[in-house]
Amino acid sequence: MNKPKIVVLGGGYGGLQTVVKLQKSIRENDAEIILVNNHPYHYETTWLHEAAAGTLQPDRVRYSIEDIIHPRKVQFIQDTVEKIIPEEKKVQLGSKELSYDYLVVALGAEVETFGIQGLKEHALTISNLNSARKINEHIEKEFSTYQAEKEKVDERLSIVVGGAGFTGIEFLGELVNRIPKLCADHQIDPQKVKIYCVEAAPTVLPGFDPELVEYAKKVLEKKGVEFYIGTPIKECTKEGVLVDKGNGETELIQANTVVWAAGVRGNSVIEKSGFENVRARVAVDPHLRAPGYQDVFIIGDCSAVMNKETNRPYPPTAQIAMQQGKLVAKNIKNLLQGNNDLETFVFDNKGTVCSLGEDDAIGVVFGKKITGFKASFMKKVIDNRSLFLIGGVGLVLKKGKLKMF
Ligand code: FAD
Ligand code: NAD
Repeated sequence: MNKPKIVVLGGGYGGLQTVVKLQKSIRENDAEIILVNNHPYHYETTWLHEAAAGTLQPDRVRYSIEDIIHPRKVQFIQDTVEKIIPEEKKVQLGSKELSYDYLVVALGAEVETFGIQGLKEHALTISNLNSARKINEHIEKEFSTYQAEKEKVDERLSIVVGGAGFTGIEFLGELVNRIPKLCADHQIDPQKVKIYCVEAAPTVLPGFDPELVEYAKKVLEKKGVEFYIGTPIKECTKEGVLVDKGNGETELIQANTVVWAAGVRGNSVIEKSGFENVRARVAVDPHLRAPGYQDVFIIGDCSAVMNKETNRPYPPTAQIAMQQGKLVAKNIKNLLQGNNDLETFVFDNKGTVCSLGEDDAIGVVFGKKITGFKASFMKKVIDNRSLFLIGGVGLVLKKGKLKMF
């Protein structure tokens, strides 16, 4: 008899957590498990801002998927998911087609550009390991070209970060720590470097605790960041960004480096596959299934789970993706055993910590506000915890942030 086939799409936080839990709880003969990912490695999306700023080597941010999966229980396919055909229980990959009995979609996020002109052509983004690496290489190249050229072009040393959400702020925290070293390497006066953060909302980190927001803003300002608040980016050009200053006034901020960190949407595979969605995120049922499809689970940044207190979906985070992966694995195991009584997903929010470089941070953990060393320590604990949940102590020892003090 053919074994039921479980196909997991995406080897990020949600997908790997699902696979790791499935391989622990399901016997070899009970099901065929297939994991599809476009790279042979998993990268820590939550550390990408460090690779982008050059404060962490790209290789530190990733680990091999083959090292995590059980070879007899899980088949790994490195390929690109093009489309899901849920009516036929099929997935179209770049090189072949796969059928499934149960599907878990965990393909993560893509950058949201809101149709703003010029962003796709001229801005860099922190969306995967290669795009993060490109930012560091681009900044390095601008600094070395500046040093070598006779007629200095000051815009080479100007960097605009679009968006002061968690991604923008965490990237700035790394960048301001990296600049002194970069300047020393290229014999450049640090005073010449300009770092701008442009935010559309009336505050940095909209929605976060105002006292902590103020702390973060002050730390970054002290290290040279100039904030443009309540100032949406309207257009991105070769010269920099055009911002709306209100009352019909605009300003061009000239910079050779523009990093767009102003929002995410789900994966475009969701839209191509015809699932009901808002910005490529699917409002899943209480068991994390796509409406109308009992055999398709959607988790992580491609899913939207309502927070009943705010009446808005929870923000997409690694924390929620991993909790969803754990639950889906449990529910699939139950289904395989003929138990159709599925568990409901309830998000257990343990808090949020936003780093401000390696040595500083702000956060709310278990309801308590923390800043400085305490918060920074907690951030490293969280980073190590996600490694532990996927690869145990071995992965923490290999890839973890073990320099805690
Ligand atoms: P991901 O972990 O992004 O994984 C998606 C996987 O799918 C990737 O391996 C990708 O290569 C693969 N993939 C994508 N498209 C295809 C395709 N077509 N075919 C095949 N494979 C594909 N959240 C927190 O909780 N805490 C934090 O501190 C935090 N920090 C962050 C810092 C940064 C800089 C960023 C950008 C995000 C941060 N987040 C944080 C958010 C968090 O990273 C995401 O919510 C989380 O990664 C979502 O998990 P996921 O499993 O849905 O997707
Ligand atoms: P976000 O949507 O949280 O923030 C984007 C910011 O860009 C917002 O403040 C928005 O007002 C601003 N913006 C939008 N359009 C703009 C424009 N035209 N001009 C200027 N500013 C504009 O996106 P993010 O920061 O990439 O975060 C994505 C998800 O990842 C969130 O759910 C976040 O919680 C999560 N995340 C968490 C952490 C952490 O926990 N430490 C770190 C990074 C990301």
